Amino acid sequence: MSDVVDRITMLRDAIRAHNHRYYVLDDPTVSDAEYDALMRELRELEATHPELVTPDSPTQRVGAPVADRFAKVRHREPMLSLGNAFNEADLRAWRERVVKLLGADVDVAYVVEPKIDGLAMAVTYEGGKLTVAATRGDGTIGEDVTANIRTVKSVPLVLRRTDDTPDGVPQRIEVRGEIYMRIADFERLNEQQVAAAVGQAPRLFANPRNAAAGSLRQLDPNITASRPLRFFAYGIGPCDGVTLGSQWEALQYLRALGFPVNPDVRRLEDFDEVIAYCSEWMSRRDTLSYEADGIVIKVDSFAQQRELGVVARDPRWAIAFKFPAREATTTLREIVVNVGRTGKLNPNAVLDPVNIGGVTVSNATLHNEDYIVSRDIRIGDRVTVKRAGDVIPQVIGPIVSARTGQEQPWRMPRACPACGTAVVRHPGEADTYCPNRRCPEQVVRSVEHWVSQGAMDIVGMGERQARQFVERGFIQDVADLYTLTPESFRGIEGYGPKRIENLLAAIETSKERPLHRLIFALGISNVGSTLATTLARQYGSLDLLANASAAELEAIEGIGPHVAHSIAEYFAEPEHRALVAKLKQVGVKVEQEAPLRPAAEGPLKDKTLVLTGTLAGMTRDDASQLIQQAGGKVAGSVTKKTDYVVVGADPGGSKYTKAVQLGVPLLDEAALLRLVGAPAEPEASEAEGAPSQQLSLDM
Ligand code: NAD
Repeated sequence: MSDVVDRITMLRDAIRAHNHRYYVLDDPTVSDAEYDALMRELRELEATHPELVTPDSPTQRVGAPVADRFAKVRHREPMLSLGNAFNEADLRAWRERVVKLLGADVDVAYVVEPKIDGLAMAVTYEGGKLTVAATRGDGTIGEDVTANIRTVKSVPLVLRRTDDTPDGVPQRIEVRGEIYMRIADFERLNEQQVAAAVGQAPRLFANPRNAAAGSLRQLDPNITASRPLRFFAYGIGPCDGVTLGSQWEALQYLRALGFPVNPDVRRLEDFDEVIAYCSEWMSRRDTLSYEADGIVIKVDSFAQQRELGVVARDPRWAIAFKFPAREATTTLREIVVNVGRTGKLNPNAVLDPVNIGGVTVSNATLHNEDYIVSRDIRIGDRVTVKRAGDVIPQVIGPIVSARTGQEQPWRMPRACPACGTAVVRHPGEADTYCPNRRCPEQVVRSVEHWVSQGAMDIVGMGERQARQFVERGFIQDVADLYTLTPESFRGIEGYGPKRIENLLAAIETSKERPLHRLIFALGISNVGSTLATTLARQYGSLDLLANASAAELEAIEGIGPHVAHSIAEYFAEPEHRALVAKLKQVGVKVEQEAPLRPAAEGPLKDKTLVLTGTLAGMTRDDASQLIQQAGGKVAGSVTKKTDYVVVGADPGGSKYTKAVQLGVPLLDEAALLRLVGAPAEPEASEAEGAPSQQLSLDM
């Protein structure tokens, strides 16, 4: 028994300390999932030993006592927390309890909405004017943050009038809702914190909730005003002069008074629909502009809510369905640097394995040198790690308050960890590169990409095989794949004659892949498979592409200066020109059957055209091809040098507007056809050959 008492005491102390850091200092040292695990253990121990429950246990109380730096506000009605459900069984058990207490023959409707991860706020209006705003605090006493809340634009200072009350506004109403920060705003704020902290560790916020709380609980309202805080109203507290019967009615009323109410809120009468709503949002949570940690489900009727009442700190009439966690804290043991196929050095964190939402994570990206240095991430630090959606887990930042003094700062190595060549970092760029094209690691990665699906698709080759051949000196670039012979496999375990034959046959077949796959397989920075297709179509041959200047590339629809530059730069490197020659020599097909390069002569010789909107009789690709065959060029944006803009239906704003501003002649589809000498549609305008036929400008 004394073991249980000790454990309970330990858990309570730990939870109280975490509550203080989280609610008062806005500087938690553990993730919510870790905190929740402590809380769950304490609840379970108290459930099996009810005699040990004390009124001051964290399971019986909300939040933490308020910070002294704010004036205190006593809530007229306590602000509660929410019980949690982690799966469908928990949700159904909650509903069973509700039905049992209300009676099986009673209809129950539910109001559901995403649970925004921010901080709870009670904002009181008297005679329609904002008088007091308070945080939840310990549920009974909150902090007076009125001056700060006044700076949040989505909180009305004066209520809109409605027909629901004689005076247009209720005599007094307490509006409850969440102050939060959008994810994009939070990320921008952290970037600003990094930029502002020259030469010292930046004060980074761990997540949008932490950023919202830290921004709101400021002594200087000017600081709050400068932060991108927002508000969603989700309920009402005590009010005088207006009577509302349900949560749904209350939300409509709040909307009418001028409060933002979550647009995704729903009233559902069937509990299966509630379950479906939870699972739908669990998979779509990344589409929300704010961080949501679950779904809040409330019994709609206020009369039923009153009947159900409250137990300890949670109402029985509501529950929070929690999404799987996406953040955890762990220790960063080491930083290893991997070399990518373009030579980019990727720093990766080796972590003490940690469970994030059911997946064990032991590696995470650290992006680049600046990311690590500007966030002052050190080896040995406790760090916050985030794993969201399909994105690779990343280290968010260190928990500075958990430092012991043993942590070691890190710098990017000066030599490539794979080949020892001095690394380079160009001014103005965050990435560091190994410039040695023969670097074995780069060769392995290029081969891995070359053989992948969507590229040359060589079944039977992968990273492991690439490494074996690179280590044995048989492969120094991707063209060497085509020089492998049965001899090259001697001494490599696991290759029987059949396997060797199959692999060599797969390599041979790959020589005939279409040009766009070859261009993609080269692994040029910024050239994905879609762009590779455009380039293949435009040039029809690898040689022509290799000779294109950045300016010429930039004139192609969809290619900006940055991408044009990286393509031209790739082919400017002697190693890459040698590779193109070698690929031809070993028999890789580098031409398209029907080259689509611009004709040297034609009615559109030396003319640059831009396409916008949807054409009725042809696709954009068809139109581009037509223009090129007539000797013209298709560009992606309108400039003074543009000769014509071809306008289809629903033209996007900027190209069209720019053309009108600059007075560039506009063509419709029929005028384009006439211009290139193609047969025009019979109903097309009579205008003779004049290329500058203007469209009616009624868009
Ligand atoms: P809670 O956050 O689980 O639920 C209650 C809160 O939900 C309300 O106060 C309100 O702010 C919010 N909410 C959002 N949308 C709502 C809606 N539509 N209707 C009603 N409420 C809505 O409970 P809690 O008591 O505030 O705190 C527990 C949370 O805080 C847990 O997630 C826990 O992990 C975290 N926490 C973390 C630490 C730490 O150290 N990491 C410490 C303490 C608490």
